[in-house]
Amino acid sequence: MRRHPDRRLAPWAAWDEHSRGRRFEEPPPALRGEFQRDRDRIIHSTAFRRLVYKTQVFVNHEGDLYRTRLTHSLEVAQIARTIARALGLNEYLVEAVSLAHDLGHTPFGHAGQDALNACMRDYGGFEHNLQSLRVVDELEEKYADFPGLNLTFETREGVLKHCALKNARSLGELGQRFIDRTQPSLEAQLANIADEIAYNNHDIDDGLRAGLLDMQALQDVVLFRVQYEAVRAAYPDLRGRRLIHEIVRRMIDATVADLVATTSARLFEHAPEHIDAVRAHPEPLIAFSPEMAGYTRDMKRYLHEHLYRHHRVLRMTTKARNVVRVLFEAFMGEPRLMPDEHAGHARAWQSAHGDAGRARAVADYIAGMTDRYAISEYERLTDPRRNS
Ligand code: MG
Repeated sequence: MRRHPDRRLAPWAAWDEHSRGRRFEEPPPALRGEFQRDRDRIIHSTAFRRLVYKTQVFVNHEGDLYRTRLTHSLEVAQIARTIARALGLNEYLVEAVSLAHDLGHTPFGHAGQDALNACMRDYGGFEHNLQSLRVVDELEEKYADFPGLNLTFETREGVLKHCALKNARSLGELGQRFIDRTQPSLEAQLANIADEIAYNNHDIDDGLRAGLLDMQALQDVVLFRVQYEAVRAAYPDLRGRRLIHEIVRRMIDATVADLVATTSARLFEHAPEHIDAVRAHPEPLIAFSPEMAGYTRDMKRYLHEHLYRHHRVLRMTTKARNVVRVLFEAFMGEPRLMPDEHAGHARAWQSAHGDAGRARAVADYIAGMTDRYAISEYERLTDPRRNS
């Protein structure tokens, strides 16, 4: 088996020297690896800082202790790095993908994304994965020599988790895998699953904190019940936050342990000798055991029914949808209501691409907003007592 000079990297990992490179050629970094440089560029980006004021499930002003997109992204990165190390994968790449995966998210989480997608229906639609790519490829203004962050192909491949076939066709090499139905790198596969592990578990924690989920009712979820019973048996007097955290901590641990064991076995069985063999493999190699896959599906279903569709969450997301719709209609009707820079994009893209160009400029502006900025823009536009 070939070994990388950095002995921790397995042959199936993403090696710097096998990278498909950057859109604009640059000299290699002096002190860092290529993916380490990507990770650093993401952390220095403006879009990354905005994640702190964007909704995961609970809107930013609902409480200071709930996950935001920023803390969510950090948890994803942390889970993904642990697994990457255990599997001999490139920790820097998986961290870069994890930290960037939600950069294109609108304010107000999925409600905001759905609302913006509906507004954009006649203009090419809005997909948050595609928007994350647009942020790192086009919208960030950080470097003299190129637009965006000029990340490696591998980081961009991981950021573009899904995309509609019609959009894939316009993305060249990056979109090809959705047309050919091939796989991305193991690091990209891993960041995707680590995202799921992170939100399933932290949403249980946040849902219990908010009083929207109930410990007794959660016994219906096998993953929760098994750990609940184990903790109660070991610590019969444990109550409150420590009980919840001990259960959630063990759920993450059990899920991660299953993923590492199952994936290790698959990697040794198929032994891909190169990242391109990973891409050509007929199915993802990063996987849960069938049993654990079933448990996590049940957990997701439970959260959909009892948390994401809880009336208190729905009430907030209905308001959020309305904010996005009102902003879109106002800016689309009169782009000069946007700050000069965005109004300028709307003018330029209108001349180049017609109404779809103007709509894209409006969508970029709205998608970049934090929850609280969107609410204050909404108030400025709709409250006649406010004069700016
Ligand atoms: Mg996420």
